[in-house]
Amino acid sequence: MICGLEEVAFRYPGRSANALTDVDLAVAEGTHVALVGPNGAGKSTILRLLTGVLTPDVGKATVLGHAAADWKRRDLARHVAVVSQGGEAEVPITVRELVGMGRHPYLGAWSPLTREDHATVDACIDSVDLTELSACDIRELSGGELQRARLARALAQEPRILLLDEPTAHLDLGHEAGFMELVSQYTVQQGVTVVAVTHHLNVSARFADRMVLLASGSVLREGPPGEVLTPELLEAAFHWPVEVVDLGVLGRHAIAGTRVSGDGPS
Ligand code: ADP
Repeated sequence: MICGLEEVAFRYPGRSANALTDVDLAVAEGTHVALVGPNGAGKSTILRLLTGVLTPDVGKATVLGHAAADWKRRDLARHVAVVSQGGEAEVPITVRELVGMGRHPYLGAWSPLTREDHATVDACIDSVDLTELSACDIRELSGGELQRARLARALAQEPRILLLDEPTAHLDLGHEAGFMELVSQYTVQQGVTVVAVTHHLNVSARFADRMVLLASGSVLREGPPGEVLTPELLEAAFHWPVEVVDLGVLGRHAIAGTRVSGDGPS
């Protein structure tokens, strides 16, 4: 296990219910694990525990054998990188500068990037196919280009673990598949572990080795996509009828069905 949770319970201050209860998650090195489930299921809370931003009330959140919260931020950033949908300050910054930030965990305070750092930055920009746009202000990029730039910054950290927090939420079907292909190619080649929070069951079924279906802060089922994407489990999690079809190489696809009577999920 390269990272994971052991019998974790966590409740946000002031809340009457746990965000997570008795959650076990063992992520094997080099695998791609997708965390799926309805809004409020606890997916993002798991990522916050793995980055040490939150500490479990009960149980352990570990990264590379140490409690996640015990890592110094800078040391953790040499092993764990996060791609989400934002986080940059509202200042003009080029793609190259953004990706260069991925080298900060390796630099001394106020030290400039070395020749090797610049080479790593170039390689990461190239690997996401943004070389032609490397001098552009990131505010001029399309949604898909910006997400690729954020991915390149994460890759510049040379992480062993890549945490994806809904990085494709605003991308269309083609850009989403392209982004996930890039992640997949890079991580498989480099043996990087992926833990991805996503709402897109079908994309994760195609790219993930294992899926963790969460509901109300607990794991409903963990396993290969074929075992997790079943109508019964998805309906139990999402409170909505779901059809599942097997599309061969494209994987299993879950399709929201039609509710004949009663209300939808709140
Ligand atoms: P998901 O990512 O699956 O949508 P979250 O992990 O964001 O779920 O949320 C799990 C539960 O924790 C929800 O009930 C949510 O309202 C609560 N929660 C999330 N973030 C906070 C916060 N910052 N403060 C208080 N409660 C929170």
